[in-house]
Amino acid sequence: MKNSCSKLRRGRLLVGVLTTTCLLLLPALRAAAWGFFGHRLLNRLAVYTLPPELIGFYKANIDYLTVNATRPDSRRVVVPDEAPKHFLDVDRYGPDALATLPHKYADAVARYGEDSLLCHGIVPWNVALMKGQLTAAFRAQDADRILRLSADLGHYVADACVPLHTTRNYNGQLTGQRGIHGLWESRLPELLSADYDLFTGPAPHLDDAPEAIWAAVARSHAAVDSVLLFERELTKAFPEDRKYGYEQRGNATVRTYSREFSRAYHARLNGQVERQLRYAARLIGAFWYTCWIDAGQPDMSKLPAQPSAPEQLRLAQEARQAAAAAPAVNVPGHEE
Ligand SMILES: [Zn+2]
Repeated sequence: MKNSCSKLRRGRLLVGVLTTTCLLLLPALRAAAWGFFGHRLLNRLAVYTLPPELIGFYKANIDYLTVNATRPDSRRVVVPDEAPKHFLDVDRYGPDALATLPHKYADAVARYGEDSLLCHGIVPWNVALMKGQLTAAFRAQDADRILRLSADLGHYVADACVPLHTTRNYNGQLTGQRGIHGLWESRLPELLSADYDLFTGPAPHLDDAPEAIWAAVARSHAAVDSVLLFERELTKAFPEDRKYGYEQRGNATVRTYSREFSRAYHARLNGQVERQLRYAARLIGAFWYTCWIDAGQPDMSKLPAQPSAPEQLRLAQEARQAAAAAPAVNVPGHEE
């Protein structure tokens, strides 16, 4: 089942590559939810939701948390089972999926089999698992692990807040809207986030962290219809040469959604991307804070203020591996 899923995804990948590179270069190269820009912004914003006892440690490491916010996406090219951790195709499980999908991973495995789950994504189960790991790292007062898990957990929580990460039609490929993934999660924040109000206030303690991430998935999934519908409606009003434009990115000229179309989409969505960014930043902070509380509120001032030398070496090595393995195209699992 897993193999057939991988083959299916790889087949989809090839078709996707051929069509998307012709049609729309930039979003085709973006597999990351929120794009690199958005993930980095979110981990950074989340630091400012933390209480005084925690914010010192996180602020001292804000560059680490920012830079490493995208590491899970880089890992997709070297770690075979990384991809499913970033999404959940809710609509693979029928119209009542959110009411019927078991929230305990063991129960879900018993019902669907692990291969099938991995095929359709496991983001909420993975976040729940990592919540336990980060709590354990706080309990052990292991600064390296706290940092590593915080950066990663921030990424996956952010992914769960992207509507198109909760549907099999993740890039509009089933409805003739290929490229919409990058439009929503990369193009709009990169273009407009300077105007967004992203202040969220303090992160709350999550009394039931697993349920909080399932609620985030449900909220994201509820937005899928409008994400697709508004793009479809606007497309009718925009001739092709006004919908797309060319922009300089480094040395390359890329074809992407025009500024005019992007702004019109933002207006039609009535600030949805801004709201989701705010929601995600607060939820990331809430997960970090909850892990710390549930670990018994260890004194963070006693921990080393920076990642250790071995950890920095390990990170550099991981980055080298990812760079060496980085394909020219995307990898299986919401690959476009
Ligand atoms: Zn991701």
